[in-house]
Amino acid sequence: MLIVVDTLRADRLTQYGHDRDTSSALARLTDAATRFDECYSPAPWTAPAVASLFTGLAPGRHGIDDVGAALPEGTPTLARSLRRAGWQTGAVSFNPHITRAAGFDQGFDEFLSYRGEMKRVPDVRAGTAAALDWIDDVRPDGAFFLYMQPMNVHGPYRVPSDAEALLLGRPPREGFAFFGPLMEQLMNEGKIERRQDVGRAMLESLGEQYDTAVHHTAVELGAFFDALDARGLWQDSLVVLTADHGEELFDHGGFAHRYSLHREVLRVPLFVKLPGQTTARVVDEPVSLVDLRATFGELLALDSAQGDGRSLVPLLAGSAAAVPAELRDRAFVAQAGNEKRFVGRSVRVGDDELIVTEASYDAEVAAEAVRLYDLAEDPGQQRDLSSQLPERVAQLRALLDQIEDDYREAPLPAQRYELDRPVRRALEALGYL
Ligand SMILES: [Zn+2]
Repeated sequence: MLIVVDTLRADRLTQYGHDRDTSSALARLTDAATRFDECYSPAPWTAPAVASLFTGLAPGRHGIDDVGAALPEGTPTLARSLRRAGWQTGAVSFNPHITRAAGFDQGFDEFLSYRGEMKRVPDVRAGTAAALDWIDDVRPDGAFFLYMQPMNVHGPYRVPSDAEALLLGRPPREGFAFFGPLMEQLMNEGKIERRQDVGRAMLESLGEQYDTAVHHTAVELGAFFDALDARGLWQDSLVVLTADHGEELFDHGGFAHRYSLHREVLRVPLFVKLPGQTTARVVDEPVSLVDLRATFGELLALDSAQGDGRSLVPLLAGSAAAVPAELRDRAFVAQAGNEKRFVGRSVRVGDDELIVTEASYDAEVAAEAVRLYDLAEDPGQQRDLSSQLPERVAQLRALLDQIEDDYREAPLPAQRYELDRPVRRALEALGYL
C-alpha cells in the first residue's frame, strides 16, 4: 500500500516532533515502521511529485512540470510493473491533477479519481471506504497494490463538522481563509505589501486549521489500518505512508505551495513498514520520493526500471552505521516552473542547500536570485549565506547544471492533454490556471 497524504509537511506530525498531538492515531503504522527523518520531494506540487513516485524519474526527466502535461502511454510505472507481475492494482486519488487524461491511471485495474471543485473534494473517509470495498472485492484473488491520496490537508483544510473539535476541543478559529482576498492578492497577484495584514491571530488560525486536517486524516487512516488488521491483512502488508510535498505556513512570508522551494514544501514524512515488521526504526540519512520506485522494485522483485532513485532497502534492513556508499553524500534536486508563481530549482548536498530563483510572485525573492542555507545551523532557512560563501555557491550551481544536463539527455517525452471543464474549474479555484 502506498498512501500519499497530499500537502502533509513532515514537521506537523507528532512523530516528527510537532508539539500538538496531530498524529498518534497513526501508531499502528508508526510503531512498526522505519521513519525517514529527511525525505525530500523533487517538486513543490502534486503532478511532478506523484509522477516521480510512480516512475522513479526526476521531474527533469519525466517532464511533468505544468498543468496539461501527461505521462506518455507506455510509461513504466510502478502499477504497470506490479500488474505485469500478477498483482491487482487499485487507485483512490482525490487530487484533480491525478487523472486518466494526465496518464496517471497507467497500470491500474481500478482507478477512482476526482474531477471537480476543490470545495467539494471528497473526505478521506470516502477514500478509505472505497479502498476497503475494492480490497474486499479483489482479495480472494491474491496480492493487491493500493495507492491512495487523501486531500483534507490540502487547502482549504476541510474537516467534517463531527471531527472539527477532536484535536483542540473546539473547531479551529476562522481568522485565516484559504480562498479569501488576502490569499488571492498576496499569492496570486503578487501584492506583497499585503503581508503587513498577516497578524498573529491569523497565523494561529491557519495553524489550527492545518493541524485539525492532519489530525482528522490520521484518525481516519488509523481506523483504516484497524480495518485491515481485522481482515488479517495488516501484519504481512508492505505499507508506505508519505506526502507529495509540504505547505508554506508563512515560514517565508507566503502560503500554500508551488510558490517556493524552501524546506517546508520539500520535506515530507516517510514511513515504511515491511511485511512482518513490529518495531519502529529511524533513519537520519536524507532520501527522496524518487527512491520509492526502486525500493518497491527490490522489495517485491519487480522488473527493474531504469530510474533516478536508489533502493532504500539497505537503510530498511541495516543499522545506521552501515549506510552504503551509494546512499551517502547524495545530491537532491528539486524544481518548479510556473511563471505566475515561481520558477526555480534547488540542490541539497549534505547540510548545504542552494535555491536558484528565476521568477517569483515575490519581487524581492526574484531579485535575490541565489540563496544558500546551512541546514545544520539553520534548519528553518532564515539566514542566506550566498554572499559569504561564493565558492560553495559556484560549486553547487555547477553540480545542479551538470545534473540537469544529464536529465535532458534522456528525457521521457511528456505529452500534452486538453483539460475538460470540471478539471479546469477545479484547478482555477486552486489558482493553478
Ligand atoms: Zn499535492
